[in-house]
Amino acid sequence: MRATLIDGSFIIAGLLFILALAGLSKHETSRRGNILGAIGMAIALIFIIAGTVMGTFNVVDTNFGWQSIEIVTAAAPSWAIIAIAIALAGGAAIGILKALKVEMTGMPELIALFHSFVGLAAVLVGWTSYVESAASDHFDALHSGELFVGVFIGAVTFTGSIIAYLKLSAKIKSAPLMLPGRNILNLGALVAFFVLTVLFVLNPAGAAGLGLLSVMTLLALLLGLHLVASIGGGDMPVVVSMLNSYSGWAAAAAGFTLENDLLIITGALVGSSGAYLSYIMCKAMNRSFISVIAGGFGSDGAVVGETKDYGEHRETSAAEVAEMLKNASSVVITPGYGMAVAQAQGTVADLTSRLRDKGVNVRFGIHPVAGRLPGHMNVLLAEAKVPYDIVLEMDEINDDLKDTDVVLVIGANDTVNPAATEDPSSPIAGMPVLEVWNADQVVVFKRSMATGYAGVQNPLFFKENAAMLFGDAKERVGDIIQAL
Ligand code: NDP
Repeated sequence: MRATLIDGSFIIAGLLFILALAGLSKHETSRRGNILGAIGMAIALIFIIAGTVMGTFNVVDTNFGWQSIEIVTAAAPSWAIIAIAIALAGGAAIGILKALKVEMTGMPELIALFHSFVGLAAVLVGWTSYVESAASDHFDALHSGELFVGVFIGAVTFTGSIIAYLKLSAKIKSAPLMLPGRNILNLGALVAFFVLTVLFVLNPAGAAGLGLLSVMTLLALLLGLHLVASIGGGDMPVVVSMLNSYSGWAAAAAGFTLENDLLIITGALVGSSGAYLSYIMCKAMNRSFISVIAGGFGSDGAVVGETKDYGEHRETSAAEVAEMLKNASSVVITPGYGMAVAQAQGTVADLTSRLRDKGVNVRFGIHPVAGRLPGHMNVLLAEAKVPYDIVLEMDEINDDLKDTDVVLVIGANDTVNPAATEDPSSPIAGMPVLEVWNADQVVVFKRSMATGYAGVQNPLFFKENAAMLFGDAKERVGDIIQAL
């Protein structure tokens, strides 16, 4: 019996990826999950690079397992190896620089940008494979279908992720693009893709094949652009996880084209876990999964940025809040994107432990889409060593808010906006939110009266039991600690 060492390494890497996903599903095991995933990726990279550079390792199994290794072929000519080495070194250098420079608040757009690279890679793999088949004039129907679908998913992922990157980094407006007949445009593009696929599989060679592949690539690039552009700011979390899923399927499609089993396994894992995450996010936001993946299909086009007169807001000071906290027996902290911007998690953790030392019951309420990444707040609080057992999900804490003395809203806005439940015309209508206004007193930490990511005014700021504590969240929490 002969087994290749590379196939063996792929199985080990695949298993490690599955264990990594399992670990990442819980706070307590997430670090271990991350490490297992990194080990799996290191194993995969080492064997793929070694296999490419040195040819194919073959392992001869004698009686008791893998005993000896022979290098059978030199798979790639030396110029190709040099080109691969340059590409690897260049890519690794850019990746390391980016990772060192990126702020935690810049992670979502960086991830969106990385998804776009996966999409682009899938398009290039598909096109390269097409050029190879065309040069030898040998087309296999299954292979033609694979590469056509791979290029389609890759191109949609590529432009969709670029738009997501631009929206998340606020380089373009997060408001949805409302083209007339946009649902028809999306559906029409999908139907056209199916027709083009059939035509290409039947006729992949010559100018006809080239034309069909070119038209489909252009169509997919436009579709990706339109799908993400027509999704509003409040629904962006689902888009991020959806593009994550698409990038997985694009990688899996490239794996089929390249006949690389590990790429198929990894792509399928990323694709399916991303799809499941999108589904969870849709449920958390009370959105239809189909609507969002179809590019805002069914959205009623509610207008972002309309201002209503909710009356006067009230301001408070750090000293007043410290007094309020001294008299409180239960406190809930609801962090949002502003806590990440202010890097206030350490100071918030400090305030938490001081209050707990005084016997105050302090808990955290985490909205599923708080911040700019799924799990963003959990990561920050874990980094600041806030105990996991006082960090609760929105559903676990919402009913307790009415029995809470003080809620500290630290840099959150859309996720605590009562318009979602009270105003059916709001763009975030129907999205479940942390019902902080049910507590006795609410203190909102932010720098101004500006709207949150969805661009929607927040009536919470004008409620009688709410007070604004203006300024940078880290500084204001620090002031409260001083005053305590
Ligand atoms: P929001 O983005 O709604 O609001 C954040 C608030 O933080 C702002 O109103 C801002 O007000 C305040 N802020 C910013 N900097 C500071 C600072 N230094 N100190 C104090 N306050 C500050 O946050 P939420 O977390 O409530 O909501 C997340 C939003 O992002 C949702 O709309 C969600 O859909 C969207 N989103 C989420 C993703 C995810 O996966 N979690 C991905 C993409 C989008 P001011 O400027 O006045 O200080």
